[in-house]
Amino acid sequence: LRSNVRGYLKRNGLLTLSIIAVITGCLLGFMLRGTHLSTQAKIYFSFPGELLMRMLKMLILPLITSSLMSGLSSMESKACCRIGVLTVTYYLWTTFIAVVVGILLVIIIKPGVGTEMESHRLGGGPVMTSADALLDLIRNMVPSNLIEATFQQYRTDLVPILKVQARTVRPNFVYVFPDENDPKGRTVYLELTPPPDITYKTSPGSSQQMNVLGIVIFSATMGRMGERGAPLISVCQCINECVMKIINAAVWYFPFGIIFLVAGKILDMQDPSTLGKKLGWYGITVLAGLFVHGLILLPFFYFVLTKKNPFTFIRGLLQAMVIALATSSSSATLPITMKCLLENCNVDRQIARFVLPVGATINMDGTALYEAVAAIFIAQVNDYELDFGQLVTISITATAASIGAAGIPQAGLVTMVIVLTSVGLPPDDITLIVAIDWILDRFRTMINVLGDALAAGIIAHLCQKDFPHNATGKPVPSYGT
Ligand code: ASP
Repeated sequence: LRSNVRGYLKRNGLLTLSIIAVITGCLLGFMLRGTHLSTQAKIYFSFPGELLMRMLKMLILPLITSSLMSGLSSMESKACCRIGVLTVTYYLWTTFIAVVVGILLVIIIKPGVGTEMESHRLGGGPVMTSADALLDLIRNMVPSNLIEATFQQYRTDLVPILKVQARTVRPNFVYVFPDENDPKGRTVYLELTPPPDITYKTSPGSSQQMNVLGIVIFSATMGRMGERGAPLISVCQCINECVMKIINAAVWYFPFGIIFLVAGKILDMQDPSTLGKKLGWYGITVLAGLFVHGLILLPFFYFVLTKKNPFTFIRGLLQAMVIALATSSSSATLPITMKCLLENCNVDRQIARFVLPVGATINMDGTALYEAVAAIFIAQVNDYELDFGQLVTISITATAASIGAAGIPQAGLVTMVIVLTSVGLPPDDITLIVAIDWILDRFRTMINVLGDALAAGIIAHLCQKDFPHNATGKPVPSYGT
C-alpha cells in the first residue's frame, strides 16, 4: 500500500499539493475574515498570490509568440488552412452550444422570476453598443503599435475608467455612472473592491491589459514567412523551450502562491448573508450549465469525434483547471494548460501551439453560457418578457461578447453590456449579479480552459494524418485511450 501511495504521489504530487492549497486557502481565508485585517495587512498577506499571478502573466507573451511562430512555421499551407478552419468552426460551434444550454436552463429554472432585488443605479447615459464591441474586436486584431499591444488592448468600455477617481462606495459592487470627463459621455463600469483589486482596476496604467488577440494575429502571420524566416523560427523554438523550462520550475511555487491567492480573495469577499435567495438560484443555474456543458457535452463531443475516453484526457488537465480556479484567468493559465497538454495528454506539439493560444483568446464557452444566463436572469428580475427573436439575439451577442472578452478575471462582466443593450435591458442591472460574479468567474474560467484543451485533443486527432509524428519524433501517442 505504501509503495502504491508513494507511486501516486510521485505521479500526482503537484496536483495533490495544488488541491490541498485551494482547500487551505479557503480555510485560511474564512478563519481570517473575523480578524478584520487592515487594508495594508491584506496587501502584505496577498503578496505571495500576487507573485504567482505575475509569474504566470510574465510567461504569456513569450509563450504565445513563440508557440504560434514555431508551431505554424513547420506546417504545410494546406494543413495550416485545414487546422485553422477546423479550429475556428469547432470553437464557434461549442460556444454556441454553451449559450443554448445556458438559455434552456435559465428558462427552465427561472431564477429571477418573482424577485424584488435592489439595484444600485447611479445614473444612465449612453453605453457601449454591440457595434462598439465589434469595432474593438477588429481594432484589437490590428494593433497599431506592437510594443504597445503587449501591454494595452483597446476597450471602449474601459478607457474612461482611467480617468475616474475612486469614490466612497460600497465595496464589491459595480457602480454605473456617466463619465463627465468623457466627451462622448460613455458610461463607466467601476468595480470597487478593496485593494489589491482597487489599484488593479482603477489606477492609470495598471488597468491596461495585454492585447492577446493582436499578438496572436501578428505571430500567426510571422510564422508563415517561409524559409527566409528560419532564423527567427529557431529563436522562437529556443524561447519556447526556455518558457517550458521556466514553467517546470515555477510550478513548484504554485501551491504556496495559490494558498494566499485564494485566501486573499475570500478575505475580500462580500458577506454571503447579504446575498438574496434568487441570486443563489442564479448562481446554481450558471454552475449547473457549466457542469452540463463542461462535463457532459464537451466530453461527449470529444468521444464522438475521437472515439477515446474523454475523462482520461480531462484527468491530465486537472492541474490546469486548479490554476484556472485559483487565478480566474484563462490567459494566465495558458502556460500550465500547454504543459498539461504536452506532458499528460501527449497532444501533438504543433497542434497545441496553434490551437491553445487561439482558444485562450477567442474560445470562452463558460463565459458565453454565463452571459446568456445573466442576461435572461436580469430580464426575469425586471419582469421583461423576451420573445423568440430576442432569445436568438441574446445567443448571438453572448457568443460575440465571449469572443471579445479577454482571458482575465471578470472580463465577461464588462462585455455583458453588449448582450443587455442588444435586447433593451438596462445595463446598470449588472449590479444585480456582481456580488457573486467573482466566484462564478472561477468556475467559468475552468470550463474555458477545458474547452480549449479538449479542442486541441480533437483537432489533433482529426488532423492526425497531417502530422504522423509529433515534434518529439515519437509516433503520435494514443492520448485519452
Ligand atoms: N475570467 C474569464 C477567463 O479568463 C473571462 C470571464 O468570463 O470573465 O477566461
